[in-house]
Amino acid sequence: MRKMALHWQILSGMFLGVVLGAVAATAGHEQFITRWVNPFGVIFMNLLKLIAVPLVFASLVKGVSSLSDITKLSRIGTRTIGIYLTTTVIAVTLGLVFVNVTNPGKSFSPEKRQELQAQYAANVEIGKTGAQGVKDAGPLQFLVDMVPSNFIDAATNNGKMLQVIFFSLLFGIAMVMLPEENTRYVKGFFDGVNDIILKIVDIIMLYAPFGVLALMAGVIVDFSDSLGELFQALGVYSLTVVAGLAVMVLLIYPLILKLFTKVKYGEFFKGIMPAQLLAFSTSSSAATLPVTMERCEEHLGVSKEVSSFVLPVGATINMDGTSLYQAVAAVFIAQAFGYDLHLSDQLTIIMTATLASIGTAAVPGAGLIMLIIVLGGVGVEPEGIALVIAVDRLLDMCRTVVNVTGDATVATVIASTEGKLQPVTEDD
Ligand code: ASP
Repeated sequence: MRKMALHWQILSGMFLGVVLGAVAATAGHEQFITRWVNPFGVIFMNLLKLIAVPLVFASLVKGVSSLSDITKLSRIGTRTIGIYLTTTVIAVTLGLVFVNVTNPGKSFSPEKRQELQAQYAANVEIGKTGAQGVKDAGPLQFLVDMVPSNFIDAATNNGKMLQVIFFSLLFGIAMVMLPEENTRYVKGFFDGVNDIILKIVDIIMLYAPFGVLALMAGVIVDFSDSLGELFQALGVYSLTVVAGLAVMVLLIYPLILKLFTKVKYGEFFKGIMPAQLLAFSTSSSAATLPVTMERCEEHLGVSKEVSSFVLPVGATINMDGTSLYQAVAAVFIAQAFGYDLHLSDQLTIIMTATLASIGTAAVPGAGLIMLIIVLGGVGVEPEGIALVIAVDRLLDMCRTVVNVTGDATVATVIASTEGKLQPVTEDD
């Protein structure tokens, strides 16, 4: 019998998870899901996170050390950052256009606003503490944060991916600068480690359908109680975010690929879909990174030199979905609080949402905390995030898909313009 394609396996797992969650919620067995099913989802997330640092380290060292010419690296670096910034600004602008058409906050009742504010007051406090640290930092703090003082320390925390990237680049560059015979064995070692880690990704993916089943069942029982009511109150807002995200995936990325590469969007979509589905189920671009890298390399033909740099950097700083969501949410909240936003405020949102999305960690719910910074930029109080917390997990799942798709699109574009897009032979 022919093996089912990976994306169908994952989709089936998601579907069964939704059914299981819905049945359990209807029968009043939410506890069963939380105690006996959800842990398998957490194990799946942990497995993915487990290999992120070793994968980025090994593949960047391998990628950089095989470059014949280091100036290429700075060219790839500058282009990558430039395109990432451009797509983020496009996403924020798109979000602003959509939210200014639908105006979801204008019809939001003050009673509902007060109710949500009271309900989520504690979450707001936690978010405020997180955002305060970012606000207090000096303008060059991001540069300081990039350079680790201890590699082991950096490697113990998936949130310090830029530090791991920094050390790996340094390591790879030093290897290129040394005579070949000095580094022959180290090169062989990293080649082997790389193959082993990619094999581990394959092994973990065998478990993916069960992992996503468990994650989806957990999400459904969390939401089942309040979904109908939430949809009534936050439906227009949520649909505005989802519509904007859909335009990114169905229009903007295909257009970018068409303009800069010869890759057909259908093929791109088929190659990257398992990563998109995992992004949706895990709400974390960092957890999805190993799969995004594997899919781009093995199924889209992006060379390791490009993918090993562009994708981890993208997972950390390029969040088109998050920036679009932050723009829509900021305007929604401002409208619900009765603020009138002028053109200058909207321009401020473009700037702050771009920066806030760069600073957003690639983990579930991080975009919501950084939304406080965007709100601050237009003078809206941080308590406003209480209005959108209730639907945040669902929107987080959708925006993470866009974050990951954006990274893969840019990796494909860079590979294509560098002549580093190889034909792919494998099918799944
Ligand atoms: N969950 C998102 C990600 O990992 C970040 C966010 O918007 O909360 O890409």
